[in-house]
Amino acid sequence: MLIEDYFTSKAQDKLKEKIKEVAGQEVYCIGRLTGEEPLINEIEVVARGNKVAVPAPATKLSPGEVMIHNHPSGNLSPSQPDLNLAAKFGAQGIGAIIINNKVDDLYVVVEPSLELEITDLDVEEISEIFVADNLLDQTLAQYEYRYQQQTMAEVISKAFNRRTHLLVEAGTGTGKSLAYLIPSIYWAVENDQKVVVSTNTINLQEQLIKKDIPLLKKALDIEFNAVLVKGRRNYVCLRKLYSLQELADQVLENKERESYLKLLDWANDAKTGCRSELVFQPEYSVWERVASESDTCLRSNCHHHGDCFFTKARLKSIKADILVVNHHLLFSDIAVRKEEGMDLEVAVLPKYKHVILDEAHNIEEVATSYLGDRLSKQHLLKFLHKLHPQKAKKGIQGFLMETRFKINQARDKIDKDFRIEIQRMIDNILQPQVLKTTDRANTFFNLLVEFKEQLESKEEKESKLRLKEEIIEVEEWQRIEDETENLLVAMNQLNRKLSGLQNKIELLADADIEDYEGLLVDLVSKIGRLKEMSKILDTVINENDSERVDWLDISRNSKDQVKCSLNSAPINISNEFRDNLLIEMDSIIFTSATLTIDKSFNYIRDRLGLDEDLVAELRTGDPFNYQEQAMLGIPTDLREPYSPEFTSQALNILKELLIENQGRSLVLFTSYGMLNQFYYKLKPQLEETKLSLYRQGEKSRHLLVKDFKQEMAPVIFGTASFWEGIDIPGEQLSSVIIVKLPFEVPTDPIIEAKVEELQDEGRNAFREYMLPRAVIKFKQGFGRLIRTNNDQGSVIVLDKRIITKRYGKNFINSIPQGCQIVVDKSSHLFKKIKEFKD
Ligand code: SF4
Repeated sequence: MLIEDYFTSKAQDKLKEKIKEVAGQEVYCIGRLTGEEPLINEIEVVARGNKVAVPAPATKLSPGEVMIHNHPSGNLSPSQPDLNLAAKFGAQGIGAIIINNKVDDLYVVVEPSLELEITDLDVEEISEIFVADNLLDQTLAQYEYRYQQQTMAEVISKAFNRRTHLLVEAGTGTGKSLAYLIPSIYWAVENDQKVVVSTNTINLQEQLIKKDIPLLKKALDIEFNAVLVKGRRNYVCLRKLYSLQELADQVLENKERESYLKLLDWANDAKTGCRSELVFQPEYSVWERVASESDTCLRSNCHHHGDCFFTKARLKSIKADILVVNHHLLFSDIAVRKEEGMDLEVAVLPKYKHVILDEAHNIEEVATSYLGDRLSKQHLLKFLHKLHPQKAKKGIQGFLMETRFKINQARDKIDKDFRIEIQRMIDNILQPQVLKTTDRANTFFNLLVEFKEQLESKEEKESKLRLKEEIIEVEEWQRIEDETENLLVAMNQLNRKLSGLQNKIELLADADIEDYEGLLVDLVSKIGRLKEMSKILDTVINENDSERVDWLDISRNSKDQVKCSLNSAPINISNEFRDNLLIEMDSIIFTSATLTIDKSFNYIRDRLGLDEDLVAELRTGDPFNYQEQAMLGIPTDLREPYSPEFTSQALNILKELLIENQGRSLVLFTSYGMLNQFYYKLKPQLEETKLSLYRQGEKSRHLLVKDFKQEMAPVIFGTASFWEGIDIPGEQLSSVIIVKLPFEVPTDPIIEAKVEELQDEGRNAFREYMLPRAVIKFKQGFGRLIRTNNDQGSVIVLDKRIITKRYGKNFINSIPQGCQIVVDKSSHLFKKIKEFKD
């Protein structure tokens, strides 16, 4: 191979020049065949210096282009990372060439190929769809042209064409779902590639599947398939359902049996076999028994494979163009791909290279939780109870007894001595070992609770204790380590004994036992799960990983019952996110109404590792006329929230505001404690004035919102998830009251660990982490007010720090442009709110 066969002399000179500029270190360039000859003529440097930087520019490449880099050592053999990247490039029609520093020798790892034909989106055509009198306008009854929506669709189309990633903050009312769905649909259909749309909430998934996608099916001149992909536990497993038939009378209680019979009946005619299709609520314990699960599925060996609801659902997703999923499912797909290869045709989802991440402001939290581990007392005890209960009732109780029963049922087909040997193994070895492990588990978790309560007040109903060095160095912790060892030994012994049972049952392969494969796969899954739990226990207590945070979570409910769990989570997910998503995908579009702080994307870029050379950005602006629609009011006659007078002052002002506004308000708190304190104080007084006061948690969120929409003068007190996702358009919600700026508790283990990490790097953790998180939540809360062009109302902030502290301007600068801001005594403020409304 000669260098002249691949590069023009102009390109060779450019490469020499660029290598010289970095004193012979590594340089990564994109080569393009732009001249008249079929040679690389144009060189663009995309990274310098080290291998870590390689993957970043890789996402900028398009089919037909060539990735070029030098090996300063002169040894041009590709390294393993070079080969990995080359394999990825090859699949995309991208070449890969290694050169020496003198640019007179080369190694072609992958020949440039133009065979993979991708049809770029016609950005003008996509843009046209949004203009007046065109497809959307002609089909959607209440369509309104919005410049912001059209711009968003154009920029996403360009990102798809360039295989780049993009951050888009789209103000409420932009119509962002249509803006990303339309380019996604055209891309998927024209290139026969799937596009995944991932959301955080079920509400948004339902909006996409039930409203937006059906509308687009009518409006667009293109045929496409879109499916909502659900987790497999939503589907009934026919193998489990039918194999329970024989045992149902003996293992189920009356209510459970009723539920089971209804499920059997339903499954005969069910269309999808999905839980959402049920018109009744099955007993939780019964659904748990019959739900489809990955580690208990026999796949093509299952007798019901042809009728399997889950298999049919997955086949549907393979044929679809658009896959709507939740973030959790997306992460579980990526976890499988990480283990088994990113180019796997089907993992949890069929292969895709384009992802829309909607509600992207939540991604760090969701990923942290997905990558985290948890072992709770309830979970471990329930697992052991299902193997063999401590206090057995009448009938066949627990998996071991059921196994014994099944072996006994097949007594004609099994050698008598061998059958007795298995039964003895269950009776004399396994069941006592389960009981021993249960005792150990109880002792261990009780000790954890005792330890925690000795350190802190028992009064706290819910609290987390980070397992920091100063905690695990106290003398009492030694007892916990000893008990961990005891529990681990018991769990490992149990696992070995279960494996012994597995070995025995494997010898019965030819005995023609009813649902033999099912029995075996259920046993193997139990061994796997127990192993997984031991691993979490061992890691959290015995290992000290500086990149993870470990904590105890202990809470007491109103009946003084204790819940206790061990937890672990990664402190920083940016590398994981970058390596497994950014590098692997052609385009990821991160979108939400709340991604920026003071108009900057720096916070989300930093948290997810979205470097500027890797991810472009767009703020669409706000489509509503906020000057006329919204007012931000800040009463000045309140002390700051940490002052002892704050609560009584806030209660008085809140009461007056709610009465003035005749309810129709959402009041947002930062903790359940504060919410309850205000609720119990105000409820009797507000009810005297005919206001209907609701509190988060008294019924489901869906029902609360439904009641709110129907009442004359409703008020909802909410916290946590109520800061986002509540959608009540019109006059019915004309006031949002924010009692305190939503700063998180700095002692929460994850928050504390992330703050420490930033401090260790010499960074300002308040400015770079705590404040941005509070501003994003504040923006979400603010966003509950104006949902349509016709809405009008006020957001009142009772926390004076928004004007007295320097950081307050970050909150104020983050609200939609044009919004009126009134800072005044509450009596004056009330008047101005009234004037604004009139
Ligand atoms: S294929 Fe798997 S999920 Fe489907 S019925 Fe069989 S075991 Fe259950």
